Amino acid sequence: MNIFEVFYWTAILLEIAIRIPLQKARKKIPRSEQHISRAETFLLGGLFVTMVLIPLIYTATRWLDFANYDLAGWVGWLGVLLLIGSIVIFARAHLDLKSNWSPSLEIYEKHTLITDGIYKYIRHPMYASQWLWVIAQILLLHNWLAGPIDLIFFIPFYFLRVKTEEKMMINQFGEGYLKYMKKTGGVIPRLPGNY
Ligand code: SAH
Repeated sequence: MNIFEVFYWTAILLEIAIRIPLQKARKKIPRSEQHISRAETFLLGGLFVTMVLIPLIYTATRWLDFANYDLAGWVGWLGVLLLIGSIVIFARAHLDLKSNWSPSLEIYEKHTLITDGIYKYIRHPMYASQWLWVIAQILLLHNWLAGPIDLIFFIPFYFLRVKTEEKMMINQFGEGYLKYMKKTGGVIPRLPGNY
C-alpha cells in the first residue's frame, strides 16, 4: 500500500466514524416521507462497488495491475489536499444538518430547514464533498478501474439526487426553500451580490 492509498483508506474510515452516531440516532426518529427510487438504489450500489470494493481489490491484490496509470508524485499530493477538503466539508455538513440528515431522501416529522453553518454558503455541502472525493480518487488511486470509474455512477446520481431532493424540499418548505435557493449556491458558493 503506498502513502496515497493510506490517505484514501483513512478517509473512508473517517467518513464511517462521522456517520455512525447520526446513523444510530436517526433510527428512533419518526419520518413522514421517504423517496427511494430503483434508479437511485442502483446508482448507490454502483458507487459502493467503485468507491470501496474495487479500490479494496486494487489495494489488497495485484489483479488490477493491467489497468494502472502513472501520475507525477505532486499530483497525488494534490489528491491528498482535495481529500482533506472533502472530509472537512463532510464533517462540517453533518455537524450542521444534525438529525435532519438521512442517507436516502427523507423528511422527518420534526424536520427543520437548516440555512446556517456551512448551509449558509452552499445548499449541498455533502455532494460538494463527494465531488472533491471523486476527483481526489482519480489522483490518489492510479488505476482506471479503482480511480475514475466511479464517475459513471456519480454523475447521474448527483443530477438525479439534487433534482429529486430540491423538489421534495420545495414541497415541504415552500417559499422558505425557494428563498434559500435564491440566495445560496448549490455546490459552489454564490458570489456576494450575485443573486
Ligand atoms: N443536500 C444536502 C443534504 C444531503 S442528506 C447536502 O449535500 O449536504 C439528504 C437529506 O438532507 C434529505 O433527505 C433532506 O431531507 C435533508 N436536507 C437537505 N438539505 C437540507 C436543509 N437545508 N435543511 C434540512 N434538511 C435538509
